[in-house]
Amino acid sequence: MTPAPSTPSRRAVLATAATVAATGTMLSAGTAPAAADARKRPRQAVVFRNVRPFGARKPVDLTVVDGRISDRPAPGGAEVIDGGGRIALPSLVDAHIHPDKTSWGGPWVSRRPADTIADFVAQDVELFDSQSRSVGERAYGLMAHAVTRGTRAMRAHADVAPAYGLAGVEGVAEARERLRHALDVQIVAFPQHGVVRTPGTAALLEEAARSGLVDCIGGIDPISFDNALEEQLDLVFGLADRHGTGVDIHLHDTDAKGVTVLRGIIDRTRALSLQGRVTVSHVFCLPGLSDAELGALAEELGDLDISLTTVAPSRDLVLPVARLREYGVKVGLGSDGVRDAWSPFGNADMMHRAHLLGWVTDMRLDEELSSCYEAATHGGSDVMGLPRAGLTPGSPADFVLVRGECVPQVVVDMPQRDLVVHGGTVVARDGRLV
Ligand SMILES: [Zn+2]
Repeated sequence: MTPAPSTPSRRAVLATAATVAATGTMLSAGTAPAAADARKRPRQAVVFRNVRPFGARKPVDLTVVDGRISDRPAPGGAEVIDGGGRIALPSLVDAHIHPDKTSWGGPWVSRRPADTIADFVAQDVELFDSQSRSVGERAYGLMAHAVTRGTRAMRAHADVAPAYGLAGVEGVAEARERLRHALDVQIVAFPQHGVVRTPGTAALLEEAARSGLVDCIGGIDPISFDNALEEQLDLVFGLADRHGTGVDIHLHDTDAKGVTVLRGIIDRTRALSLQGRVTVSHVFCLPGLSDAELGALAEELGDLDISLTTVAPSRDLVLPVARLREYGVKVGLGSDGVRDAWSPFGNADMMHRAHLLGWVTDMRLDEELSSCYEAATHGGSDVMGLPRAGLTPGSPADFVLVRGECVPQVVVDMPQRDLVVHGGTVVARDGRLV
């Protein structure tokens, strides 16, 4: 059903567009083009008629040529899709999710008490062993669901440990391949069981980096979990440096240990000139700092283009997104684990996550609620190094159409994603993949 992912030249697009009759399809009824037509049709020459970008009062036509928003008149013969006055919003970006761990789509998982990372990790392994579906199948189910909820891109952490070998990375890569027409995916080789405390992990991280399947090397609490600050950071940054990958480290410490690790990350980013390639996830040590301490660290993070991600877990642990942005720090929003051994919650719906960000931070004002949507869209694309889907000329035609009034109301009400468009192609409609 999906067009070939290759992008024809603009000239080819226009030439072929002229041969395709305008269809004037309606959003609500049988609009999917025949598969043969979809393959013949140029990658893009589509007009999304009667839509309201960001809830604008006056409907407009959004023209897409070759996968990008265009401010030029639509070429003759362009396909027409009627948006029915729906709001057009940038598609969402999940900057931190764990698709390999999920039980999404499978039977209910009953969890036992757990206090430490080691407790959770043990239940991760049990869940992995108990699943009848492969990692690839489970990850695909969750990632496809995310697409139907309007996610255009995600950074997926996949466990790398002797208990699994590279099954997590390979499974998520398999799902990425199946969804490549609809979703941009970066994979992090994540040493959930520790780099140093679990022998064999370092070699597997090296193998993952060599495989070409991963975009980032991960890390986890180098002091409090791995008890090997220098060793873990040297290893992770060394791999990233040698293999040209990024770094994305889980950092859960709420106290001074977290700041110590952050300093180690800052030093290595500077020493290896990895500006723009390093992300720290969760960073629970930042919200508790004084404003002066936060400002000093944020300035360094901004200068080195070290980005952060938060999953808005609670009022005390959510990152101060607006304050960090003042220092130029990129902050992405993510789902974290979804229906895995760690939590029975989660739904990979980033509009819901924007809602949760507003909820835990007591947002009231329209601009505050809109900023939550921005964190769930541009925040993640900034972290992943993707162009923003800003609905402006030249930006990727990645957007969702929803019924509603305005952006703040959408963040509160979380309407169904009626249409999800990726690179100008309709990839999901009414909650289902096209
Ligand atoms: Zn995580």
